[in-house]
Amino acid sequence: MSKTYNIAAIPGDGIGVDITDAASQVLNTIASAHGGFKFNFTTFDWSSKAYLERGWYMPEDGMDQLKKHDAIYFGAVGWPSVPDHISLWGLILPIRKNMNQYVNVRPTRVLKGVTAPLSQIKEKPKELDWIIIRENSEGEYAGQGGTTHEHGTNAIATEVAIFTYVGIERIMRFAFETAKSRPRKKLTMVTKSNAQRHGMVLWDKVFYEVAKDYEGVVEHDKMLVDAMTVRMVNKPESMDTIVATNLHADILSDLAAALAGSIGIAPSSNLDPTRSCPSMFEPIHGSAPDIAGQGIANPIGAFWSAAEMVRWVGQGSLDKTADQLMEAIENISERGVRTRDMGGQASTKEVTDAVCKEVEAII
Ligand code: ATP
Ligand code: MG
Repeated sequence: MSKTYNIAAIPGDGIGVDITDAASQVLNTIASAHGGFKFNFTTFDWSSKAYLERGWYMPEDGMDQLKKHDAIYFGAVGWPSVPDHISLWGLILPIRKNMNQYVNVRPTRVLKGVTAPLSQIKEKPKELDWIIIRENSEGEYAGQGGTTHEHGTNAIATEVAIFTYVGIERIMRFAFETAKSRPRKKLTMVTKSNAQRHGMVLWDKVFYEVAKDYEGVVEHDKMLVDAMTVRMVNKPESMDTIVATNLHADILSDLAAALAGSIGIAPSSNLDPTRSCPSMFEPIHGSAPDIAGQGIANPIGAFWSAAEMVRWVGQGSLDKTADQLMEAIENISERGVRTRDMGGQASTKEVTDAVCKEVEAII
């Protein structure tokens, strides 16, 4: 009997709409080529455009509506006429927090046919193969702090990062398990505990505590975030799995995507490892207002995120299908079907149609 996966689709703003359309086309194609499952999409019009019209991003029962689904597919949120902190806190951050998605997994590698911008990576593209584990529930994105004398030159604002033992321990365990599952079995922990002497020191302490359980199994090291940016550029082969705080990992994953060719190819999975709530899959890029509505957005990050969603909902039963989607993506990229951000001329639709055709040939 065919299994149906119920997916909540939130296209959001700008190119989020284009790439969510493209991803649902690819997901439907995979499902019918496979024949053993299908996707039932429910689309939610929660966006900055809707916010400007009605004054809210999500309805009061929004989280309950999302909970009825097996997974959430998210495009992007943010639009120039709404301050970014309003749009992020209107939609994506509350979903991550309320849906217990405390892990954000961001893999990066140089896909076949993609030219990395730096010569040291261009010459040895296989050496850049990372998986960044982003703490997704607390840290610098805790939303705590306040402002006094909001207006004028006396303004004072605090932005309080919150680090808890429980929050750090669970992300470290997830990171060590991820590192253990990969061939190189190597974890690099990113910190800034030389300057930030409370939260970051606790972060380091819990890391070393958890590391004891992986002695002899996972090799590990520690990097200050500033030095880490240099190491990513100069010695990409020296890292495999990387664990970092909410803010640090956000910045490092944009750098990682750019080093691997384009921010348009990078995926992310917001996971609730306990599976008590649906997990959410989204490309790491934003709404890119400069290219919105032109049909030229790179949908590869969206397809890679879709592949991760297939893997997650399948709970082991669809790993081969997810791998086949990745193979289709790499094949068309190798053949030179690429959008402008990767030096090609193809439109979003041309890349999408090519991936669908390839998927049909492979599955
Ligand atoms: P956010 O705050 O949501 O992370 P951002 O302000 O960091 O968003 P992005 O929207 O991620 O910005 O993108 C920055 C620029 O990169 C865009 O303006 C666009 O030119 C380019 N870009 C991003 N995503 C894509 C894509 N999928 N295809 C092509 N170009 C892209
Ligand atoms: Mg960004």
